[in-house]
Amino acid sequence: MLVVRHLGKTFSTPTGPFAVLTDVSLEMGPRESVAILGPSGCGKSTLLQILGTLDEPTAGGMTLQGIDPFQLKSEALSLFRNRHIGFIFQDHYLLPQLSVWQNTLVPALATHSHVPESLVAEAHRLLDRVGLTDRLDHRPGELSGGQRQRVALARALLLKPTLVLADEPTGNLDAENGSLVSEMLLQLMAEESAILITVTHSEALAAKMDRQMQLVQGRLVT
Ligand code: ADP
Ligand code: MG
Repeated sequence: MLVVRHLGKTFSTPTGPFAVLTDVSLEMGPRESVAILGPSGCGKSTLLQILGTLDEPTAGGMTLQGIDPFQLKSEALSLFRNRHIGFIFQDHYLLPQLSVWQNTLVPALATHSHVPESLVAEAHRLLDRVGLTDRLDHRPGELSGGQRQRVALARALLLKPTLVLADEPTGNLDAENGSLVSEMLLQLMAEESAILITVTHSEALAAKMDRQMQLVQGRLVT
């Protein structure tokens, strides 16, 4: 369960405080999905960064599974993020020197010096689900944009996150690959019991989510 209450973010800038998020509230349970829409610069990525605990709010707060991540010390926060949150960005951020299956295992490296066989098996299972079984040993440079994003999808889900945050996951893809990646995202989300928050400019992708919300003047509205 994700509970976001009156969350705000004001950046200090050389020209004074700049309020991006003023009052964001949201409640979501397992298997629920929401699309967040809004013009460029309205604060969508800022919101996902905070929900992903990569940045802190300047007002209000959130709990995930009853835990307020912003009360945690830095090491505990890193563990919390690793354990609970999966990220998918517009850029895949795959490591070019690692193979497809090694890239999928990257989240496990934060907590395991020796990756257990069960996680290697999970990586292979997820890569099979996104149709990349015949590409396991390929490097990202040898893949198409859609295939890279499918690896990023498998990587995000490796540790069975409670909350998956996708920031324009199909933004760099053509229509065909975009719809393939979004289909796979939704299929996988239906199998895992995670919460999905997707920022997108794609009406087609937004329509596939349970709820659609707009970020308007720093607030989420339906
Ligand atoms: P979106 O993802 O909706 O396009 P962003 O969340 O990236 O928008 O940015 C929202 C606004 O906040 C923009 O005007 C951006 O310039 C500003 N912004 C983002 N990060 C910072 C920061 N660290 N300091 C100051 N302003 C920022
Ligand atoms: Mg953005």
